[in-house]
Amino acid sequence: MRRIAAEEAEATLRAAGAEPREPYPGRISLPWKAVHLVCGKEISPRLSNLRPGRHLCIHCSHAAAGVARRAKLEATAVAEMRAAEWEPLAPYPGTGGRWLAKHNPCGTERETTLNSVRDKVSRGVLYGCET
Ligand SMILES: [Zn+2]
Ligand SMILES: [Zn+2]
Repeated sequence: MRRIAAEEAEATLRAAGAEPREPYPGRISLPWKAVHLVCGKEISPRLSNLRPGRHLCIHCSHAAAGVARRAKLEATAVAEMRAAEWEPLAPYPGTGGRWLAKHNPCGTERETTLNSVRDKVSRGVLYGCET
């Protein structure tokens, strides 16, 4: 394990966006109490884990994962709507949320929910303006 000087370690941590809360623990493999400046939360990163593209902060990394997960859910939901001939016109509000969409066969725009569309699709009925 490479040993680095405390000043170098602190400079590395600061460059990554965190402010040390305790003296350098002496090894890059040890957790080091710090505050992530972006979110202000306390973190215990290991310098050995620091690399570009990797999140220094567990809180921010969880938030980023949540955003990615929601984006994936939204993509799936939009695909389901399109398969049922509805074109979503607003951001995905969740399965039960009212969702403004255009019914492609007639061009009518109105609010529906993914649940209603799914329910019809599961029964083999195309969900349209008449219902
Ligand atoms: Zn953070
Ligand atoms: Zn229609």
